[in-house]
Amino acid sequence: MENYSKIIEQIYSDVKNMDDIGTVASYIPELAFVDANNFGVHLSTIKNQQIGFGNVYKKFSIQSISKILTLTLAYKLKGEKLWDRVDVEPSGNPFNSLLQLESDQGKPRNPFINAGAIVICDILISHLKNPKEDFLNFYKEVSNSQNLKYSEKVAQSEKKTGFRNIALCNFIKSFGNIKNDVNDVLDFYFYTCSIEMSCKELSNTFLFLANDNFTTTKNTPVLTISQAKRINAIMLTCGFYDESGEFAFRVGLPGKSGVGGGIIAVHPNKYCIAVWSPKLNKKGNSFKGMLFLEKFTSKTASSIF
Ligand code: GLN
Repeated sequence: MENYSKIIEQIYSDVKNMDDIGTVASYIPELAFVDANNFGVHLSTIKNQQIGFGNVYKKFSIQSISKILTLTLAYKLKGEKLWDRVDVEPSGNPFNSLLQLESDQGKPRNPFINAGAIVICDILISHLKNPKEDFLNFYKEVSNSQNLKYSEKVAQSEKKTGFRNIALCNFIKSFGNIKNDVNDVLDFYFYTCSIEMSCKELSNTFLFLANDNFTTTKNTPVLTISQAKRINAIMLTCGFYDESGEFAFRVGLPGKSGVGGGIIAVHPNKYCIAVWSPKLNKKGNSFKGMLFLEKFTSKTASSIF
């Protein structure tokens, strides 16, 4: 069995002492209050190893990492018909870009950019009786944790300043690819982004994407094998927006980032790892988080390639 603990401890302390050239996201005002020195790493393996260093129990705003579970639930509900509404191609554009929607006639390139996640939220609203409550319950079931909440403060802060997302939603609606009221869709989208989790909770939650049968730690099936493999494929090609190629090149794992500074990455059949460091690079991905993962998969020779 690999000695992950020693390796993680060493890389954690190396990266902690390095200069951070990133900046904390402030376009959502509430996110700017976070202490930028937070740094945590947690690994969960399918052989039940749990290894953490730094701020592993502290909850933070997971932001776009929640897009994995909104997609998971929509895929569960709609099956392959989902792809009539959202594509599976990398966008090569920033996460909040409006550019391609005009030429793509309102069909977002993938479910991990904001445009795609907003369409996924619209689909969920059409299927769920109480979208916020039902989604949170699904999340609790997958994560095997009752201790999950939306942050009112973060959701309201984004609602007041989310002009790009408001534009995206209205723009997509003009092409007919949003079926519900734009205010309801945006409200639900902002709440899904505001969920707070720790590195430990994240690595345990997304371990289902590494597990052979794609079940939760309680053995509940989340998706079919083919569906879960497809979600991993979209994470590899689209999980880091216009830095997805760079992440595959340097880290070599399917993963997903959020502007709260969190990243989760999955090694099918081995582990899920979560890293949190709030300062982001220019593409909106955690600077130290990516650096840590690059060193980790290099040292353990555990990329998927
Ligand atoms: N809530 C953020 C937004 O919509 C999520 C972006 C992200 O984490 N990349 O802008």
